[in-house]
Amino acid sequence: MTGARADLAVIGGGQLARMMQQAAIGLGVRIRLLAEGPDVSAAQVIPDHRVGDHTSLDDLRAIAADVPVVTFDHEHVPPEHLRTLEAEGHACRPGPHALLFAQDKGAMRTRLSELGVPCPRHGRVSSLADLEAFGFPAVVKTTRGGYDGKGVWFLESAADAEEALATGRDLLAEELVDFRRELAALVARRPSGDMVVWPVVESRQADGICKEVLAPAPDLAPRLADEAAEIARTIATSLDVTGVLAVELFETTDGRLLVNELAMRPHNTGHWTIDGALTSQFENHLRAVLDLPLGPADALTRWSVMVNILGGSVDDLESQLAVVLDAVPDIRVHLYGKAVKAGRKVGHVTAVGDDLTDTLTRARWAADLLEKGTKDD
Ligand code: ADP
Repeated sequence: MTGARADLAVIGGGQLARMMQQAAIGLGVRIRLLAEGPDVSAAQVIPDHRVGDHTSLDDLRAIAADVPVVTFDHEHVPPEHLRTLEAEGHACRPGPHALLFAQDKGAMRTRLSELGVPCPRHGRVSSLADLEAFGFPAVVKTTRGGYDGKGVWFLESAADAEEALATGRDLLAEELVDFRRELAALVARRPSGDMVVWPVVESRQADGICKEVLAPAPDLAPRLADEAAEIARTIATSLDVTGVLAVELFETTDGRLLVNELAMRPHNTGHWTIDGALTSQFENHLRAVLDLPLGPADALTRWSVMVNILGGSVDDLESQLAVVLDAVPDIRVHLYGKAVKAGRKVGHVTAVGDDLTDTLTRARWAADLLEKGTKDD
């Protein structure tokens, strides 16, 4: 359904677009959505949506018609289409010149290295000989199209290389980083260059999927927190990112930071900001792409913990909701309106508080009840 005037076109109807709408309501921003299907997560809450294909220029043009600014729920829109939209007078934020570095890990590594941003040792590989020259152990990644650990292989030796090489895709090899934990630094940047940076968080993964986020990262040395924020600012400025930029980082066992990857949209590691920060990543993303003044990114409480709800044995999340809200009243639940499938991100919960152990326990408890119907010990 399209009709009324819109301020912002959003491409892609996942949970990120859904949570942008939550922020858009308060700001009075009218979003028009290009959705993958009539009932996808964001289409359920954005009345002005049209079903279409983000790789079709015609569909993109139809959504962007009369809308001044275009932004994204994901980074998969072909850059040549974005250049066409820009030539036709729409502001794409982030623009294709920036988005390239979130779409292509090879281009990202090359550019960040030129900027002097610390990255794992890396090289492009296309054969066993290249891999042997690079050395083992190695982490091999498809340069494009990977997500949630798909398209990433951990290789001990040449004997493990077959599957990655058989993809026939462009591949990037990286040293296997010996890291203590994974961190993320999020920044929102306006076209003018104004920026705000949220507190640096720790993200904990299971099977390549982000499971928990602790904000701020516990016991992070102030020197590393400053460095992570500075890396995020440098990347946002140098690549001319508009909107939210998420920089995923490794904290190495010997106390260094290395950039893992970039996302140029609200990010899972920033979901805690809805309940735990003065301005959420979704609100500041909208403000940034619409060139409005940004809100402060300070935390509201000492600790915020976000735990993802991954599809598990609970099929009917809505009916489990009453159980969770009764058992753990002091948490916030965010459901995405998605059908439950094993391992799929179907929602998240956030707990805030002054004591980290207590905050973590409450968030995990609620997420367990929504995933498994029982609490893990
Ligand atoms: P995706 O695009 O699927 O999120 P990533 O490049 O972030 O892929 O890799 C997924 C996970 O694999 C990371 O979160 C991290 O845990 C691990 N990983 C990625 N690169 C390396 C590396 N060079 N060394 C060690 N672990 C890595």
